[in-house]
Amino acid sequence: MPKRLVKVTTASEFGASVGSQDFVLHQWLPSSPATEPDIRHTIDAIFNDLQYIDTGDRGFVAAFLDGITEPLRQLQESFGLQLVVGTTRGKMKLPPVEWKPEPEEIAWERAYYIVAPDPAFFRADDGPIHKLGTSCRDAFVLATDPRDDVPRKVWGSLEDIFLAFEGTPPWCPKCRADAPELLLA
Ligand SMILES: [Zn+2]
Repeated sequence: MPKRLVKVTTASEFGASVGSQDFVLHQWLPSSPATEPDIRHTIDAIFNDLQYIDTGDRGFVAAFLDGITEPLRQLQESFGLQLVVGTTRGKMKLPPVEWKPEPEEIAWERAYYIVAPDPAFFRADDGPIHKLGTSCRDAFVLATDPRDDVPRKVWGSLEDIFLAFEGTPPWCPKCRADAPELLLA
């Protein structure tokens, strides 16, 4: 299965993504001083309680999902943003303790949530331009890079890209093959 970031449009879709050991939230927000505080409030309303979720507690999960229904709708309809999620699996090394001097490795799943323009195109440095949500592996790796200082540039429309590259954007061939609107672009 190719790794993919999948769009989350409803609370129940969000519910299906819950259950990893931890999560990372990336915010690729358009720089608009007018709406940015409102956008941040909306994102907080979705993610503030996620760290406390105990998926075994059905009542808590149901209340949480009720609570994010409206902010999730706002994010998409009022601000034109999308939320995508993908998971990575790896091992986490537990520090040695007195009664277990050999460090122990346990399986670890991490969820990556990204709030981004819809659509979102992005690149690192002068690399190829990817589209968020395709099956491109490089795009997944770049989008979920947990470091804060990744030099990632994001565009929210094809028009912006054409303006920036004067009509010949350096598309990633994999993303282009995966997104019909880029084949024509
Ligand atoms: Zn790509």
